[in-house]
Amino acid sequence: EEPLDIGRIRDEFPILERDVGDGQRVVYLDNAATSQTPDRVVDAMSDYYRGTNANVHRGIHHLSQEASLAYENAHDRLAEFVGASGGREEMVFTKNTTEGLNLVAYGWGLRELKPGDEVVLTEMEHHSSLVTWQQIAKRTGADVKFIEVDEAGRLDMEHAREIIGPNTEMVSVAHVSNTLGTVNPIADLADLAHEHDSFIFADGAQAVPHHSVDVEELGVDFYAFSGHKMCGPTGIGGLYGKKELLAAMEPFMYGGGMVRKVEFDRTTWADVPEKFEAGTPPIAEGIALAEAADYLDDVGLDRIEHHERELVEYAMDRLESFDDIEIYGPPADERAGLVSFNLDGVHAHDLASIMNDHAVAIRPGDHCTQPLHDVLGTAASARASFYLYNTKDEVDELIAAIDEARELFA
Ligand code: PMP
Repeated sequence: EEPLDIGRIRDEFPILERDVGDGQRVVYLDNAATSQTPDRVVDAMSDYYRGTNANVHRGIHHLSQEASLAYENAHDRLAEFVGASGGREEMVFTKNTTEGLNLVAYGWGLRELKPGDEVVLTEMEHHSSLVTWQQIAKRTGADVKFIEVDEAGRLDMEHAREIIGPNTEMVSVAHVSNTLGTVNPIADLADLAHEHDSFIFADGAQAVPHHSVDVEELGVDFYAFSGHKMCGPTGIGGLYGKKELLAAMEPFMYGGGMVRKVEFDRTTWADVPEKFEAGTPPIAEGIALAEAADYLDDVGLDRIEHHERELVEYAMDRLESFDDIEIYGPPADERAGLVSFNLDGVHAHDLASIMNDHAVAIRPGDHCTQPLHDVLGTAASARASFYLYNTKDEVDELIAAIDEARELFA
């Protein structure tokens, strides 16, 4: 397997050459929050607006037909990208991962859950999953249970086997933790969920951008991801659902474009995905998301995964050489390309601010995992997250900025 040609890759991301003050070039290590966008994806958006722009839903005129076809084909492309064989009937375009979770929580959960039912999450869920299921559970009388995270930042599968049982109706888990970098055993959890006639929803926000995902191999019922974390635009994401489940599920939003027949007192729904895509959709974004999928496949997700592993191993090696740094999560060889940590005596926000003075962009805070931070025993952490265009030199700049912070606060 050939390593990535980082120089060539970086050429496609002009923002990485940006001066962010004092002549300093940005060191962008906040990819778990949002990734940068290569020229060809930006071009796909602007080509659409310059050459095709029209509303979809099969207008008769030429531009509308062209836009409709491209938008529909983009669904097929994203279905294929995550290993769904059913094409667009298994791929709904959403705004982001959060909307995918809400779509299922409202469309399925609000109708089907009842007192005594259980939704099983993990302690490492992002708020987009945790808050959504928590609130739907409150409204339906269902209970929410949490699979514990062990000392090493892995899911306690023993505990999973204890709490997934006959009352479990939904298991909703992050594929990759955006705070710990842990890659969760989704296929095992899917087996466990299905043994108890439960559904399983995997949140792939941090997985789809970084390694190849096959929803059918994983055996999940639902799987969500965000375009803006995988070299695509903001405002677009995908929700995979098994064909028969999406066909049976009620819509989450109502309006134009999602109907078959409307009368004054009743309405029947269009087919999937339109049933779940009320109103004028994010057409340019959807088409550009398909371009992002093409881009990632052209570079090669296996090579991207390998590159990120090298970066995270290098970063952790360096961070572990200091005894005033605490790292959260599993060993480097088990994790995705991100690392959260704290420097003794320096608040993560102060650390990030000093890094910003050195043009190093990382994220401080709770990373939308407040309950997990309670478990970790800290209110906040600093997170560096890598992607295909990052280099070891950039990791060195991260470490240099930490050295600076240590001196300043000593
Ligand atoms: N789940 C995980 C694991 C995430 O990392 C994120 C983004 N930080 C989300 C869900 C939410 O993604 P979005 O904000 O794009 O909906």
